[in-house]
Amino acid sequence: MKWSWRIGRIAGIDVYIHATFLILLAWVGIGHYMAHADIWDAARGVGFILALFGVVVLHELGHALAARRYGIRTRDITLLPIGGVARLERIPDNPRQELVVALAGPAVNVALAGGLYVVIGLVDTLETLTQAQNVGGSFLSELMWANVALAVFNMLPAFPMDGGRVLRALLAARMPHVQATQIAAAVGQAMALLFGFVGLLAGTPLLIFVALFVWLAAAQEASMVQMRSALSGIPVHHAMITDFRTLRPDDSLAAAVAHVLDGFQQDFPVVDGDRVVGVLTRADMLSALSQLGQGAPVAQVMQREFAVADAQEMLETAFARLQACACHTLPVLQNHDLVGLLTTDNLGEYMMIQAALEAARGRERRGRASQGGP
Ligand code: ZN
Repeated sequence: MKWSWRIGRIAGIDVYIHATFLILLAWVGIGHYMAHADIWDAARGVGFILALFGVVVLHELGHALAARRYGIRTRDITLLPIGGVARLERIPDNPRQELVVALAGPAVNVALAGGLYVVIGLVDTLETLTQAQNVGGSFLSELMWANVALAVFNMLPAFPMDGGRVLRALLAARMPHVQATQIAAAVGQAMALLFGFVGLLAGTPLLIFVALFVWLAAAQEASMVQMRSALSGIPVHHAMITDFRTLRPDDSLAAAVAHVLDGFQQDFPVVDGDRVVGVLTRADMLSALSQLGQGAPVAQVMQREFAVADAQEMLETAFARLQACACHTLPVLQNHDLVGLLTTDNLGEYMMIQAALEAARGRERRGRASQGGP
């Protein structure tokens, strides 16, 4: 994610913090200070938010470690003002696995609340014994209740919150995955409307923000799953681009610029002999042009590590790889030879054409049915 900084690495997973989170910290600190003009009160407010985000990291780790049990890696965890996001490499297709992964996060909050309950009991006893005044009992009990609230809030059946995933997993055990997702997404959007309505009535901007987020995420999840199911069972060579340009490692960037200007191609496979040795992306080319000029060789700028697709593999898996690498183009290989390109644009076009053909077939069927009818 842009505007994020890495703050550490836990269990082999990078944890990032988003810039907007620092704004939240400042806002809480200043808010507390303005209210009581007390630096300790401000520090306590900020400390509480930090503790809360420690809790959110543990929640996301719960998802990540449960996913790891099924061989799914987590790319990173990012802290946002509205909570954490663990970017799993993929969501498990198996409903039982999705259920376990979704429940693992809220389960961490339940465990933390239970642990804090015990600790608060100990602190209370200690305070009574030593007759000390409030060693931090209220801080801990606020944190305990925050964990309870997080568990409850996350279990609301609103995609993409954990409860939405639980709902989908339960539905998917009884019906096709796409249909289960559509129902779960619709329930999520209904919840989003409810959040937005309550947020407006109560004048809570945060709730309106969450509502918007849930609405968009539910729509995105539904279209993603629909796309994946439309792509399943179709081999890559059906949809790939076969008319494309390549570059050689010793070509200059000027050659790439000329290709970009006379076509629509964004990224270029770099071919040495008959082997693909790299990919020159438009973004890399543009930044290199401003720094190195047109004379720089392609070999200096190209990405040497890149994902590829096999001509015989299914579009569904190739599409998942396109998303995972956050890239735009996959060179398509057949027996190590470059035979085509698969791009996000051309996949989208392929989908639109398939949808149009499907509509035409539907009209034809209806036409035949009405002709044959009484
Ligand atoms: Zn969660």
